[in-house]
Amino acid sequence: MNAQNKKSRVLVKFSGEALAGGNGFGVDIKILQYIAQEIKLLAQNDIEICIVIGGGNIIRGVSASEGGIIRRTSGDYMGMLATVINAVAMQEALEHCGVDVRVQSAIEIQEICETYIHRRAIRHIQKGRVVIFAAGTGNPFFTTDTAATLRAIEIEADVIVKATKVDGIYNKDPNKFDDAVRFDSLSYDQALKDDIKVMDDTSIALAKDNRLPIIVCNMFKPGNLLDIIKYNRGIYSIVK
Ligand code: UDP
Repeated sequence: MNAQNKKSRVLVKFSGEALAGGNGFGVDIKILQYIAQEIKLLAQNDIEICIVIGGGNIIRGVSASEGGIIRRTSGDYMGMLATVINAVAMQEALEHCGVDVRVQSAIEIQEICETYIHRRAIRHIQKGRVVIFAAGTGNPFFTTDTAATLRAIEIEADVIVKATKVDGIYNKDPNKFDDAVRFDSLSYDQALKDDIKVMDDTSIALAKDNRLPIIVCNMFKPGNLLDIIKYNRGIYSIVK
């Protein structure tokens, strides 16, 4: 609960790759179900939740345009469509476990989901629905991290949670270096200066300008998201 005794409102961002599991591509149904349960746990604990999922398990604009055949702009639109596929999959998994959910896309695809309308998103949240924001910002040359930060600010989230495979921000890759050190907390300026790769610079700058704290944590430890968001316990890094 925050100071005004309102419910906590969080935006959870995870990458498309997280959905792919060991396959590296596509959507692993077991992972989808796992994440849905973690989100359900948050919803059951009176936390208002929005979600942004990346599209990297399907396609990224930069990689698609590498050979010079597909232009970057088209590749990016393909990437944004990939995030819609993931959002629809997540919507199904959440609904399957009894969570009320809506997808809103930054690009109009009315046969598949709602279009992003700020006031409508707020209304869904107030009614206790989880809202999944799809199609990134709707613009090429951006990332879903930036989209997540933008939406988090728009909906006045208390915090953005970047849910990853690691339990925070390290000074070097903890999978490769035994002496990697995790930061408990770091400033926006430090994250920008040290080129911390947790979010791109555009997202961090946007978060900084709007004083939006960024939590980085491990989403694959059951109950971790709830522990961190509700009880402020567990291991994570925070950029603020
Ligand atoms: N994308 C875009 N504009 C946005 C968000 C995403 O063009 O506002 C495209 C971009 O090509 C990106 C792809 O969608 O590579 C998938 O998103 P992202 O790479 O952020 O996914 P993640 O790495 O989180 O899975």
